[in-house]
Amino acid sequence: MSERTLSMIKPDGVARDLIGEIYRRFEAAGLHVVGARMIRLDQRKARAFYQVHRERPFFDDLVAYMTSGPIMVQVLEGENAIQRNRELMGATDPARADAGTVRADYGESVERNVVHGSDGPGTAREEIDFFFQPDELHSR
Ligand code: UDP
Ligand code: MG
Repeated sequence: MSERTLSMIKPDGVARDLIGEIYRRFEAAGLHVVGARMIRLDQRKARAFYQVHRERPFFDDLVAYMTSGPIMVQVLEGENAIQRNRELMGATDPARADAGTVRADYGESVERNVVHGSDGPGTAREEIDFFFQPDELHSR
């Protein structure tokens, strides 16, 4: 079943010019980029996006990191896109991520881990709506 997921290239990934490398991996895996934009999150928006983590000890650091520079936000579409993107990303902690994943190849720490991806159908829908209007998305 074709589905959509929300992906971000975090400030470390953009700063290190990894946009093309990461998009190449999406496309090679059959994940079509159907919408994309470069933005810089402000405090309010970063806190809102990561609301679910607001009680966690790493929350303030995470918000500081995510507002430290521009990010790429994109919607990926394809068969099993949510799971497939999570597989390309690798585990949250790069030290535990499978070889060949984005986080294993480029992540510096459990915080600075280069990419975000929605973790299920509910969050995918919410996160896509958080960044994009329907007319900004273009199915293949
Ligand atoms: N994070 C962190 N410390 C932790 C766990 C997570 O700084 O111990 C950061 C990290 O950037 C991660 C984000 O918070 O990607 C969201 O955490 P989540 O558990 O949702 O991981 P993800 O879904 O990104 O793999
Ligand atoms: Mg998550």
